[in-house]
Amino acid sequence: PPADLFLAAVEETVRANAAFVPPMGKGALYLRPLLLGSGPILGLGPAPSYTLVVYAAAVGAYFKGGQLTPIDLIVESRFHRAAPGGMGGTKAAGNYSPVLVTQLAAKKEGYADVVYLDAKTDTFLEEVSSCNLFVVSSRTISTPPLAGTILPGVTRRSVIELARARGYEVREEPVTVDAAMAADEVFTTGTAVVLSPVGSLTRGGERRQFGAAGEPTPVALELYQALTELQTERAPDPFGWVHAVEGAE
Ligand SMILES: *Cc1c(COP(=O)(O)O)cnc(C)c1O
Repeated sequence: PPADLFLAAVEETVRANAAFVPPMGKGALYLRPLLLGSGPILGLGPAPSYTLVVYAAAVGAYFKGGQLTPIDLIVESRFHRAAPGGMGGTKAAGNYSPVLVTQLAAKKEGYADVVYLDAKTDTFLEEVSSCNLFVVSSRTISTPPLAGTILPGVTRRSVIELARARGYEVREEPVTVDAAMAADEVFTTGTAVVLSPVGSLTRGGERRQFGAAGEPTPVALELYQALTELQTERAPDPFGWVHAVEGAE
C-alpha cells in the first residue's frame, strides 16, 4: 500500500481506539497491519485486489513472566524457519507455520521460544520465531545480517541505531551459535517483544546462563530503557521516530 494510505489507516485506528491505550507503564496499544489478497479468483496467482486491515489490541508483556524477566531459549537442531532463496525476509503469515510445532514442543519443556540456525550449515544464528537476536561481548554488539532469511525488523533497526548512538560498536555480521554461547549477553527485539533479555540458551545438553537468575542483563536493560523512554516521550527523540496522532488524546 502507498505510505500515505498506510499511515492514514494506522492513524484512524489509533484515534478510534484511543480509549483502549493502557496507562503509562502498563502496556501498549499493539497495532497489526495486515494485507489480504481478495477477489473472485481460484487459480494460483496474485490476487486481483487487496484489503488492508489494521488491528489494534491493548497488550501487556509478550513473554509470560513480565517484560524484563529473562527468557529461556532452546537452539533448534532439526528444523529451520527459512531457507536461502525463500521468503523468510518478508512479514508473511505463512512464515509462522514452520515454527509452530517446534515452538509448542519447546514451550512444553519450559522454554519461552526457539532459536533457529541457518538452514545451510546449522552454524550461524538466524532469529527467534517472532523476534531478532543480538549478542553482546563487552562493548560490541553483533546481530545476524539481512540476507533474506531473517525478518528485517524495525525494532532491530532502531536498536542498532540507538546502541551506536550510545557508543556501542554494532556489527551486522554472521554470528555462530558457539559465539552466542560464549557471549556476555543475548537479547531479542521485536515490536511485540520490545527488547527482551535472554536468561539462558540451551543447545543439546549444554545450557548457558546469562547474568543472575531472574535479573535482566545490563546492556539489555540499558537499551530497553533507552528505547521505551524514547517511545513514551520520557526522553528526547533525536531520531524523529515518534509520530503524534492528532485528535487521539
Ligand atoms: C515481526 C518479526 C520480527 C520483529 O520485527 P519488528 O519489525 O521489530 O516487529 C522478527 N522476526 C520475525 C520472524 C518476525 O515475524
